[in-house]
Amino acid sequence: MTLAAMRRAGTEDTLHVEEVALSEIATKFGTPCYVYSRRALTAAFTAYRDALQKHGVLARSLICYAVKANSNLAILNLFARLGAGFDIVSGGELARVIAAGGDPEKIVFSGVGKSRTEMHAALKAGIHCFNVESASELDQLSEVAGNVGYRAPVSLRVNPDVDAKTHPYISTGLKSAKFGIAYDQALSLYRHAAALPHIAVKGIDCHIGSQLLDPLPAAEATEKILALVDQLATAGIALEHIDLGGGMGIQYRSEEAAPTVADYLAPMLNKLKGRHEKLLFEPGRSLVGNAGLLLTRVEVLKHGEEKHFAVVDAAMNDLMRPALYDAWHDIVKVMQSGIPGDGAGDTANRTSLPYEIVGPVCESGDFLGHDRQLALAEGDLLAILSTGAYGMAMASNYNSRPRAAEVMVDGAAVHLIRRREDIAELFALESILP
Ligand SMILES: *Cc1c(COP(=O)(O)O)cnc(C)c1O
Repeated sequence: MTLAAMRRAGTEDTLHVEEVALSEIATKFGTPCYVYSRRALTAAFTAYRDALQKHGVLARSLICYAVKANSNLAILNLFARLGAGFDIVSGGELARVIAAGGDPEKIVFSGVGKSRTEMHAALKAGIHCFNVESASELDQLSEVAGNVGYRAPVSLRVNPDVDAKTHPYISTGLKSAKFGIAYDQALSLYRHAAALPHIAVKGIDCHIGSQLLDPLPAAEATEKILALVDQLATAGIALEHIDLGGGMGIQYRSEEAAPTVADYLAPMLNKLKGRHEKLLFEPGRSLVGNAGLLLTRVEVLKHGEEKHFAVVDAAMNDLMRPALYDAWHDIVKVMQSGIPGDGAGDTANRTSLPYEIVGPVCESGDFLGHDRQLALAEGDLLAILSTGAYGMAMASNYNSRPRAAEVMVDGAAVHLIRRREDIAELFALESILP
């Protein structure tokens, strides 16, 4: 969630998600806890649908939610109910989508290293398409499909060699990336694919990166992909669909704006005017990122010689993005003044200081935010905003920390959608030597 999407209410000006006070969630479910909003998830999906509708392409479009951004079953199920397809990158994600009630015929399978077991499972499930990323993968897939008497539906993920202008770790469309097939090699690999007996060539795919705020690289990629589609048609290879990937960025800082879905998609969709192919999109972050926050409590305030630290009960194992990408998340107090009933009342015994917001993990890289001006006391609740994407999905048990609970707010109701792990579960799969 962004601050603008929430409201403050009550005597303590407590932050609410939909109709529910975050303080109530903390009391009932404990912290750290991921909180999602059904209303915000639905609105994000509807924004895509509306933009496609406006351009008259909704009927031939499929929005495939990129599961890796947040793979909780309740979230997958919500998108399935809204009519979404799914972009998966592993057999585990395939099983999740099916368990959540997703339609296998609306699944596309991306990723540079699909195992034969995963290929087999996806063929059996009857997925819409494999997004193939190399010549070897194509041959392996043909072999696996042949063994079970299937024809594998295939798109080639082509690397359009455009600079997405994003963080190097999440830029995927350059020649130097491990992803996709080089643009210049695509035609000959399509010819090879078309000749394989157990491959059915269906489409083309590209995905140039993540957290993209400028719509022009995606539009440029679209143009290059269309040129290739036309070249392929001339060569006798007609494609049914064009998959334009995901990557649309979201607002992380309250003082920075991100484009709306409609504005981001417009230049790309303008290039697709007058075409007949089915269109696929693979948004992840932009469907879930601003529909979630991480609720945490201040454990300890520590005033060092040079810096002030607020040690909270969430850490890099719960939210890795700051440590991994130096990502910024807004961090706000849940209650403007004090803890309800703590007697302190207001900011009287709190001095506003520039805090390093850090977790308890034994790494200097374990921070959630640097230099945040806040008036804090121990026990205060904080909300780390815009953490619906690549938050819980990247969580680990590092330092033997149980993973956080996840809840979804729906109006005035709160549903636990993943209970907090317990300590015994941390080593339940391990055994000592006989
Ligand atoms: C990660 C990924 C996506 C989703 O990216 P977002 O930036 O979260 O929208 C889509 N397609 C592929 C192939 C991906 O790897």
